[in-house]
Amino acid sequence: MKLRAKEIRHLTFFGAVTAIVLLFLDWSVFIFFAALLSNSFRISRGKFCSSVRVMFDGQNFTPKNAQWWGFAIILILGIILWIFLFLREYQQLQLKRLSDEITKINETNDNDRIKMSSIDPMVTNLVSQINQMTQAKQAILNTERENEKKQKELVTNVSHDLRTPLTSIIGYLGLIESNPDIPADQMRKHASTAYSKAQQLVAMVEDLFSYSQTQTNGENLHFQPMEISEFFDQLIVQFSLDANKHHITMSSLTNPDQIQIVADPEKLARLFMNLINNAFKYGKTMTFIKLTAAKRDDKVEIKVQNDGEQIPKASLLKLFDRFYRVDQSGNKEISGTGLGLAISQGIVQQHHGSIHAESNSQLTSFVIELPVDASLGLAHD
Ligand code: ATP
Ligand code: MG
Repeated sequence: MKLRAKEIRHLTFFGAVTAIVLLFLDWSVFIFFAALLSNSFRISRGKFCSSVRVMFDGQNFTPKNAQWWGFAIILILGIILWIFLFLREYQQLQLKRLSDEITKINETNDNDRIKMSSIDPMVTNLVSQINQMTQAKQAILNTERENEKKQKELVTNVSHDLRTPLTSIIGYLGLIESNPDIPADQMRKHASTAYSKAQQLVAMVEDLFSYSQTQTNGENLHFQPMEISEFFDQLIVQFSLDANKHHITMSSLTNPDQIQIVADPEKLARLFMNLINNAFKYGKTMTFIKLTAAKRDDKVEIKVQNDGEQIPKASLLKLFDRFYRVDQSGNKEISGTGLGLAISQGIVQQHHGSIHAESNSQLTSFVIELPVDASLGLAHD
């Protein structure tokens, strides 16, 4: 620890005062023993000296050199005591500095870490533990700030998105209300526009509700065993009318043929319907949709693939953000809130899996990795 001027002054003062006090004490003790040896006390000098043996040559101490030896021993003990007190004071200074640093971190709440080295392993260990704790606290604070920011963004986006169709509905209904003599066909037109805007509003509110439901840890999920090829067959049947209408081939392939997983079937149906609906909506020149699943150890990789429109590289990572829609020619006319993929990602995360998108001029793939048994809360890596 690099000492500050104030700390050096304190230590110098402390060292000087303790040295003077200890010297005085040493001297007092020495006087006491000297008095003891010089018959001032009722102990025979000869008896005391002969009982003290020399370590080196076995000679008896004479009263004179016994006094010097005694003084040397008392002095050495005094010096040891002084070193001990001085080191203790130094340690107190370190702890005070540590406590000041912790107070500073608590007060400023910023990403500070204690920069303090010490020869004392206990202090070094304490500093590294506190730094680890501060980092953990900082990470929690950052996540909280991030969540708060997202929450504010969500409220802003939602109020903006809900206001747009609501303003149209009020506008068209207002036209009907303020013009009682409006021709019947025009009134029907206004009413029909207001109705479709109201439907859009309901869809948006439902999407928002689904989205907020996926932002939990998955404690509201109903896990059940399910078989993937059967699940794929049900999806293909559900979309068969649309597929026939648009001349699109829907197929599925699982490896091995039967793959059993534990998941929430309703949520997975929502996830795959979002992906397949998107393929129908955005794969303008699409000719096929392929569903595949492959088992890998304790995980299953599921893909929803379609040919047709390529998703620009820059958009691939943003696709799963709330309200994100690719700004591509023609996409503006397709209705949507940009919440479908955010909901899908939420569902996958509740199943402790991962999802990402890949796209080139031939193929667009949404790749999902799920644990075989999502109810075990297996964290994916
Ligand atoms: P919502 O699903 O909420 O009605 P949305 O379809 O616009 O609205 P997402 O499902 O989140 O929102 O999709 C985000 C964007 O990703 C879409 O607007 C579209 O531009 C793009 N996209 C998604 N799937 C595909 C796909 N298969 N092919 C091409 N583009 C896609
Ligand atoms: Mg969608």
